[in-house]
Amino acid sequence: MAQIIDGKGLAGKLQANLAKSVADMKETYGITPGLVVILVGDNPASQVYVRNKERSALAAGFLSETVRLPESTTDETLLKEVEKYNQDDRFHGILVQLPLPEHIDEQKVLLAISPEKDVDGFHPTNMGNLWSGNRVMVPCTPAGIMKMLEFYQVPLEGKTAVVVGRSNIVGKPMAHLLIEQNATVTLTHSKTQHLPEVCRTADILVVAIGRGHFVTKEFVKPGAVVIDVGMNRDETGKLIGDVKFDEVAEIASLITPVPGGVGPMTITMLLEQTYEAAMRSLSPKEE
Ligand code: NDP
Repeated sequence: MAQIIDGKGLAGKLQANLAKSVADMKETYGITPGLVVILVGDNPASQVYVRNKERSALAAGFLSETVRLPESTTDETLLKEVEKYNQDDRFHGILVQLPLPEHIDEQKVLLAISPEKDVDGFHPTNMGNLWSGNRVMVPCTPAGIMKMLEFYQVPLEGKTAVVVGRSNIVGKPMAHLLIEQNATVTLTHSKTQHLPEVCRTADILVVAIGRGHFVTKEFVKPGAVVIDVGMNRDETGKLIGDVKFDEVAEIASLITPVPGGVGPMTITMLLEQTYEAAMRSLSPKEE
């Protein structure tokens, strides 16, 4: 039976440490890390995520603001709002909650966020920095997964990792972070052939596809470490992962639950990156 990775517990510890660092920062430098989250429309899942982010930011002593804009918001209004916070020195992190309503040009909005304040790490400058080995802001979900693997002392060097899902926010940066730690990585997606066999080669299997209970024990090598990023609702409305937890836990060595695994670590990394951005704002900018 696998050991369960307690993402919630680890996130709690890291956030408590962060609260101490924030208090020190206030005392030593007289600044408070500030995070603004911009939410457009009334997507219920997004509303929950945004409330959780706000609650965690306040608990860690951050300055936290949430801007709620109606579904009908235009690109122009949203871009103006982003620019307002780019210019506001009280805020070191800006996050625009995705997905945006269909009529809004998401790429244009992500490009408008100043890369120094892009705590989600989605700006092409930050993506490019990550891929060229000069990382500053990293997408929070894969960053949180790396923290969990480190905490649980999962060896990565020379190991085989398979990532299922190739989104810009999870799969692709995840693959890169694992490569940086000298794992040998296969990045798979919906067109991958013989997916269960490919997954069975993995010492570390990371699943981020958004399909409830898709990954069964046929996809898992006995003893593998299994990280489930998925957040799906079953027919009763219960939150479930992409991995069929009960049967996979029987053969994996370590496994993340849903909820209580990857999700809380994502928020923690968001706060850590905002804190780091506030720290960087203290150093004189290069001309
Ligand atoms: P996307 O929808 O952007 O990407 C899904 C990826 O999964 C795509 O690359 C797609 O392949 C691949 N995929 C879909 N179906 C299959 C399949 N049957 N076999 C193999 N690959 C498949 O999703 P995200 O990366 O944004 O999110 C994935 C999941 O993670 C969702 O459940 C989301 O809610 C959750 N999530 C959780 C977070 C957390 O903090 N816990 C944070 C972010 C996301 P293709 O490219 O070929 O279409």
